[in-house]
Amino acid sequence: MPLPLVAVVGRPNVGKSTFVNRIAQANEAIVHEMRGVTRDRSYHEADWNGVEFKLVDTGGIEMGDDDAFQGSIRAQAIAGANEADVVVFVVDGKTGINADDEEVARILRKTRKPVFLAVNKMDTPNRTDELWEFYQLGLGDPWPVSATHGHGTGDLLDAVVDELRKADLAGGVEEDGGINVAIIGRPNAGKSSLTNRLTANERSIVSDVAGTTRDAIDTRVERDGRRYTIVDTAGLRRKSQIDQDVEYYGFVRAMRAIDRADVALLVIDSTLGLTDQDQRVAGFAAERGCAMVVVLNKWDLVDGPEAKAEIRERIADRLTFVGYAPVIAISALTGKKVERVWDAIDAAYANFSQTIPTNKLNTWLGEIRETGHTVSSGKAVLRMKYVTQTSTCPPRFTFFANRPDLVTDNFERFLENRLRARFDLTGTPIQMKFKKKD
Ligand code: GDP
Ligand code: GDP
Repeated sequence: MPLPLVAVVGRPNVGKSTFVNRIAQANEAIVHEMRGVTRDRSYHEADWNGVEFKLVDTGGIEMGDDDAFQGSIRAQAIAGANEADVVVFVVDGKTGINADDEEVARILRKTRKPVFLAVNKMDTPNRTDELWEFYQLGLGDPWPVSATHGHGTGDLLDAVVDELRKADLAGGVEEDGGINVAIIGRPNAGKSSLTNRLTANERSIVSDVAGTTRDAIDTRVERDGRRYTIVDTAGLRRKSQIDQDVEYYGFVRAMRAIDRADVALLVIDSTLGLTDQDQRVAGFAAERGCAMVVVLNKWDLVDGPEAKAEIRERIADRLTFVGYAPVIAISALTGKKVERVWDAIDAAYANFSQTIPTNKLNTWLGEIRETGHTVSSGKAVLRMKYVTQTSTCPPRFTFFANRPDLVTDNFERFLENRLRARFDLTGTPIQMKFKKKD
């Protein structure tokens, strides 16, 4: 199971980023934030009272112009309500409620997910008499907080984490759709064609798409006794939208699909190469921690070995941050090599969900200690003592060291490369944590 998601939503300037940074910062000593290629939507890991979760700061997804802007506040709220386990809705205690807040509240009231209303910028504690206005949002008791000073954030987090614990205890009721595969990529890359190929020869059921917020088509597939849910983000096309909206919604759709994916298939039109959007979407998938397979589609249109080699090289150059993802050239049109996509999904998922035995990891670490480079600062020398895998989907490794503060990005990359050289981690991102042990 991926970590539970806590979405932080609210209009610009209410203090979402400040709030998220405060919570994420409290853990900075032990959590090394994953390097992201984009700041549009940031995922932060947090740990409160021993409960680990991911915070999604949806704050950056707004676009410039007014219409899209309105849409995006709605989209954020909907995305939050759909994908997160708990939603924290932040409003500004200084300026009070406005129409956008009411719109978000209206959407959130309809969800069955727990929603916490955080009234931010309450810099003076105990001014609870100022809170009455926020009851009218219909989201229960408001939580006064000051993201800059920290007042109230601990109480709010206690409540959020209690809610996550309850959800955990109630777990297992959700129907198991097997391996969740999201098909992402720009319009016309061939996502629908690939989905059709993947689902055509298998026993499949297209789930009903009732609900106003459902915007991808899920297909359940059973293959060789394994179950998959294929999520095609090309899914429903809304006819009446202007171009910018289509692109914008395509993007939001991809993010949502990634939020619940185990494996993301990034479909690229080989004749056009990689777009910035492809890179951003790949970046989200990496930050979110889902496995990835890159599919070079329309390979039938690429002529000759030189052209093929050049395309592969160019793509690899621009996707170095997901260098673990296998790249498979196919033709969804003719069906050529599509079978390999299945193999890649299975392999990526196997690696994503694996548990590497502690003794093997420590044998490896022993060798690193003998041959690896040393990290030091003044007289202090970093000594790695012990490693164990503390989570799966994606695999997370916790290293115990005398001085975790000495771990540099460079050293992390070195460790990751060595881990990947030893163990099969193709297709999956990994996470590393460093804790102190004397
Ligand atoms: P976001 O757009 O919702 O992510 O908002 P930011 O986190 O960027 O904050 C917007 C502004 O509000 C910044 O100038 C912050 O310094 C300020 N701000 C955030 N939290 C607080 C708070 O608790 N008290 C006060 N007084 N200002 C805050
Ligand atoms: P989507 O928007 O990503 O779902 O893309 P579609 O699956 O609708 O495909 C867009 C267009 O590309 C259609 O005209 C497809 O027939 C065509 N197409 C898809 N895959 C291939 C392929 O492998 N080779 C060729 N030549 N055309 C393809």
